[in-house]
Amino acid sequence: MDKISVVVPCKNEEACVELFYSAFMQTITELPVAYELIFVDDGSTDRTLDIFRELALKDSNVRYISLSRNFGKEGAMYAGLKATTGDFVSIMDVDLQDPPELLKEMYTYIKEDKIDCVACRRVNRKGEPPIRSMFANLFYRLINKMSKVEIVSGARDFRLMSRRMTDAILSMSEVERFSKGLFGWVGFTIKWLEYHNIDRAAGKTKWSFYKLFKYAVGGIEDFSTVPLRINFVFSVLSFLTALGFIIADIVMFNTKGYVDTFFALTPVILLATSMLLFGIGCACEYISKIFFETKRRPLFIVKETEADILNKKDN
Ligand code: UDP
Ligand code: MG
Repeated sequence: MDKISVVVPCKNEEACVELFYSAFMQTITELPVAYELIFVDDGSTDRTLDIFRELALKDSNVRYISLSRNFGKEGAMYAGLKATTGDFVSIMDVDLQDPPELLKEMYTYIKEDKIDCVACRRVNRKGEPPIRSMFANLFYRLINKMSKVEIVSGARDFRLMSRRMTDAILSMSEVERFSKGLFGWVGFTIKWLEYHNIDRAAGKTKWSFYKLFKYAVGGIEDFSTVPLRINFVFSVLSFLTALGFIIADIVMFNTKGYVDTFFALTPVILLATSMLLFGIGCACEYISKIFFETKRRPLFIVKETEADILNKKDN
């Protein structure tokens, strides 16, 4: 029998945990699987941890990890994933915005299609402030233009993954984590399940606009060197404008016999700026190399070897 591990990061979610637990139990008991439910308390200051303790005492399939302070959802997810022991691993929000009943469909697809991941994607953002949706859409457009890793618009962290994909995610031990990018970076076949946005069951969102903005900028920095390369673009623009001025100077000198001070000085300033920006651009090339080296991402990730099929035959 397969075992499914479900990781649920929580920060101050006393209003949601029990609601989530009963919705989750309804689904998981209908599946022919063993399971473990791993709650991660991400530095909650309310009764969240007490509720975990009660559930763990009552149900031996419930485990919990309480972090020493708030590390953010990314840190909490990593802690949870590290603790998983199942053949398949899922991540869900506790607020029921990631409907646990989709787990049935996810499990069916991952088994039938023999793929490594079934992930969920919201097709609309109903109930979200329009300005937040606008910025979210802009972010996805930008990051997909700037990065080689595909980051699907509306993609949630909510997904069911094979053991090998989970291990691949865990092998990326970078501190500044942007899971939506890492899920794409590790490769493997991903099937997308689409669903309509659901409002939070209870409690409040933990993401302020500022936090989301920082998260988005961090995502771009983690997966793209375009912001560093912009120096070269400005260097070339500066150089071309200087050339324009030099041509204007020659024309002016030939027709009027003299050159205005403004027209004489501007190309000198632009040429100096262009050289400076070129120098900064070169330094940034090295910085971006150092940046990605320090992340220590694996050089490759193996999907399968002959040992896998031989093992299967033996079993
Ligand atoms: N969360 C967390 N640590 C944080 C912020 C959020 O573990 O610092 C959890 C939170 O309890 C919830 C999930 O991450 O289970 C998603 O958070 P939320 O619902 O506030 O985000 P939204 O759905 O509004 O994007
Ligand atoms: Mg939510």
